[in-house]
Amino acid sequence: MTCERCEGLMVSEQICDLQGTNREVCANGYRCLLCGNVVDATILENRRRSSETVEPLTVYSRRMPRLVAA
Ligand SMILES: [Zn+2]
Repeated sequence: MTCERCEGLMVSEQICDLQGTNREVCANGYRCLLCGNVVDATILENRRRSSETVEPLTVYSRRMPRLVAA
């Protein structure tokens, strides 16, 4: 697996509390050795499922930045 940012080597790693939102939840994921980019299996799965809705969601968040931030 290669990093989507820098295409460096990513290693399998146990990830806990990735963004402070999933306390006490650990997941298998990958970390880039070069830039430190981290992805977990949940993120990858969500991306796969929502790949067709990424673009509309991006447009929506640009139009309504405060709503999204709240
Ligand atoms: Zn990287």
